[in-house]
Amino acid sequence: MITIDGSFGEGGGQILRTSLALSLVTGQAFRILNIRAGRSKPGLLRQHLTAVEAAAKVGDAAVDGATLGSKELVFKPGKVTPGDYRFAVGTAGSATLVLQTVLPALIIGKEASRLTLEGGTHNPHAPPFDFLERAFLPLLCKTGPQINVKIERHGFFPAGGGRFTVEIKPIEKLTPLRIDARGENKGRSARAFIANLSSGVANRELKVVSEKLGWPRECLHVEEVESNGPGNAIILELALEHVTEVFTGFGERGVLAETVAENVVQEVREYLASGVPVGEHLSDQLLIPMALAGSGSFVTAKLSRHTRTNMVVISKFMPIAFRTEQTEKGSIVSLG
Ligand code: ATP
Repeated sequence: MITIDGSFGEGGGQILRTSLALSLVTGQAFRILNIRAGRSKPGLLRQHLTAVEAAAKVGDAAVDGATLGSKELVFKPGKVTPGDYRFAVGTAGSATLVLQTVLPALIIGKEASRLTLEGGTHNPHAPPFDFLERAFLPLLCKTGPQINVKIERHGFFPAGGGRFTVEIKPIEKLTPLRIDARGENKGRSARAFIANLSSGVANRELKVVSEKLGWPRECLHVEEVESNGPGNAIILELALEHVTEVFTGFGERGVLAETVAENVVQEVREYLASGVPVGEHLSDQLLIPMALAGSGSFVTAKLSRHTRTNMVVISKFMPIAFRTEQTEKGSIVSLG
């Protein structure tokens, strides 16, 4: 059985999710110790437990240690069955990260699946729904599967209660991706989402974007959305020929709207200045599709700890070795 040390590298939830995802794909059982040892509240939180339960359901797995707070887990997968599933985190924990866990197993094969995910859709330290819809999934679809997502209700911390659906038409073998350059600019937008809050918050955020990035009025949008509680996120999108990047600032109690917007503007500036196509978050998330395709490459700025950690975890389940090379264009990650 494969043994994974959850305290390794980044020491967060991604080590667990990648292990679950690749256990389903490869049929190999694993034991993970020191789950999320690098975090202030280590062990399985509700979001991680839902990911374990989702993976167990999709893959008919036998599981030991699936309780809140658990720091050790044994996962023995059975047969993956595509189909209609509903997974609810039950708190504001990220539902997009639950999707990240089961998606790799469901995009390969013959039969379609339809998933309903409930929980947080816009959480700090997790891919917001818009990042999935506009940045990650379009790239994943270029590898062959057809994936359609639809948000029905936004879920923000602390009330949660968001919901989205995912329709998946899988493919037998993924086509490799090569993302070496950005290509031409195709468009940009800033959307400030607000739920049960004054539109003044969104307008203040968009004013910062307009002043600091010089984006014209027609790129700036306020979107009032339905949610169980108050919530705010500002999402900046850069559509380029070979990639779309999405940057998010999450509104927080006690943090000025201007500060939330300034932080995300800074991220966009750094991305624009770097000249590379693949930003920090896409880079760790593209590794599993690359491994499933058996080859591919992309150029990113600096390798994040999430990216480096994920490479090691993936290579515990698959006989592959990612290559990394520093060049004047940036860091090239490649396989095959
Ligand atoms: P914890 O670290 O508490 O265990 P976690 O389960 O959220 O939390 P991490 O290991 O930190 O796990 O992984 C977070 C994932 O979310 C990574 O894939 C990271 O790229 C992604 N992510 C974080 N912030 C964003 C963002 N703003 N946009 C897109 N993806 C994001």
